[in-house]
Amino acid sequence: MLYRFCAEHNIPHKKTGKLLVATDMLEEEYLEDVYRIAVENQVPGVETIDDNKVTQYEPNVKAVYALYVPTSGIIESTSLVDKLYRLAESYGAIFLVGNEVFEIEPEGKGFKVKIRSGTEVEIFKTRIIINAAGLYSDNIARMVNPESSYWMDPVKGE
Ligand SMILES: Cc1cc2nc3c(=O)[nH]c(=O)nc-3n(C[C@H](O)[C@H](O)[C@H](O)COP(=O)(O)OP(=O)(O)OC[C@H]3O[C@@H](n4cnc5c(N)ncnc54)[C@H](O)[C@@H]3O)c2cc1C
Repeated sequence: MLYRFCAEHNIPHKKTGKLLVATDMLEEEYLEDVYRIAVENQVPGVETIDDNKVTQYEPNVKAVYALYVPTSGIIESTSLVDKLYRLAESYGAIFLVGNEVFEIEPEGKGFKVKIRSGTEVEIFKTRIIINAAGLYSDNIARMVNPESSYWMDPVKGE
């Protein structure tokens, strides 16, 4: 779906495929688990390959085992975000950049949201909140419900 969107909107991208490599038995076990999850999630075309095939794909990589994911690729993410921003604006979305949400109060069937930019505070009402605050989404969840049991546990993806 994303490739089609990129093609339609001239967003630079390339379907390169991706190798996830194991360099020893321990990593091989880990990759087998990743493979099982990929199959469960119906990732198209994912396959396990041996060291010879890895060398064919990428002669500079030494591995005992690898997962090959043919649908992976790279994308110019700033162009993608810019396009999504402009499209959303054209459908009536209003972006309040540089504002921090610091308080949310349930009110009737909706919420009262307080935002600040420097010393300026604004309050608006909404029926729906979509919490997309990334690593801070647990803070937002607790603003809505202080009892929220949702805690962010960030891990570096290495
Ligand atoms: C160094 C680095 C490199 C990465 N490289 C890649 C890569 O090559 N490929 C890839 O697929 N992924 C990569 N990632 C991961 C990717 O960036 C994240 O998975 C993705 O950005 C998460 O998107 P998100 O929309 O959930 O959160 P975010 O992109 O973090 O967006 C959350 C937004 O909410 C805002 N926010 C938070 N709290 C508040 C608040 N109280 N009020 C108002 N706004 C708030 C934040 O300012 C932020 O703009 C990388 C991450 C890092 C850190």
